[in-house]
Amino acid sequence: MFDLTSLVRPNIRAMKPYSSARDEFQGEAHVMLDANENSLGSAGPELFNRYPDPLQRAVKAELAQVKKVAENQIFLGNGSDEAIDLLVRLVCVPGQDKILILPPTYGMYEVAANLNDVALERLPLTADFQLSPETVQQVVASDAKIVFLCSPNNPTGNLLHAAAIEEILRGFRGLVVVDEAYADFAAAPSWTTRLAEFPNLVVLQTFSKAWGLAGLRLGMAFASPDVIGYLNKIKPPYNVSEATQQHALAALRDAPHFEQMREALLRGRDELAAALPKLEIVEHVFPSDANFLLARFRPDATAVYDYLVARGIIVRNRTTQPGCAGTLRLTVGTPQENEQLLVALQEYK
Ligand SMILES: *Cc1c(COP(=O)(O)O)cnc(C)c1O
Repeated sequence: MFDLTSLVRPNIRAMKPYSSARDEFQGEAHVMLDANENSLGSAGPELFNRYPDPLQRAVKAELAQVKKVAENQIFLGNGSDEAIDLLVRLVCVPGQDKILILPPTYGMYEVAANLNDVALERLPLTADFQLSPETVQQVVASDAKIVFLCSPNNPTGNLLHAAAIEEILRGFRGLVVVDEAYADFAAAPSWTTRLAEFPNLVVLQTFSKAWGLAGLRLGMAFASPDVIGYLNKIKPPYNVSEATQQHALAALRDAPHFEQMREALLRGRDELAAALPKLEIVEHVFPSDANFLLARFRPDATAVYDYLVARGIIVRNRTTQPGCAGTLRLTVGTPQENEQLLVALQEYK
């Protein structure tokens, strides 16, 4: 059985969180002399002299509508990479506990584990980048504190089968983190729709991909109010800047632009997925539910990679990743960029 209280590190259960000035007084007052801010104003063209809302209430109110979750099921971080790091720190005692990953997958889970002196258990995905029934059983039996499931998976682009994820949610004793950075491009409902069923579920999403705001650094975690409460307890007090909060609000109110970009990227993905297999050097294009395609090149993917770099086109060489020999990861770009990529690959000799 899943028990959050016993999963959380004892020192975190016991600690008193930092209480910021903005935690102790919220709202508007005539004279704000509690936070050692500069009441005169700001250097630079815009006013940012006041600390931001530590709990980003305005953004969460808007986001709750868009994502159809409650505000207390949302954590916002400085990129979803911050949520990954905080989740590891929340439940893993350094030098003692471990997390579970399923390679090939996103590299930050391993970095967060290494940074926090937390061990890694690796159970590889199958050749078509799914969880075998044996692997599901091994996950369920593991005493790791977190399993990271990336779906759609980076760098492979596929969704993990929902039945396998569900079996893990039912059997695994730690936190099940489903990283949905690419959910907006996927033909499947988000796992946020299942939060009420699974107290051990944490869903990660981000403004960095479909929203087109990678430079802002804003990531989301969706989970039970208890998990969210712990993340808020341990986060840096002002982890999301005022500029980011204002910009995120404007973005959320500009849903038509988001939708229009999302659809254009999906069209670009379909066009690339149709054109690439016609090239002699492309051996296989893996199916994708993301804004990129993983393709296997012959006879030498790294030679193709170097050739593209020389033509000023940068893709991601994934040749050394487990199960990804001979592959490059191609992000869907503008129609012109996609065309340039295809022309360059056609001219490869
Ligand atoms: C891009 C990506 C993220 C996003 O990270 P941010 O810190 O929010 O930019 C998270 N997970 C995966 C799998 C990604 O590919």
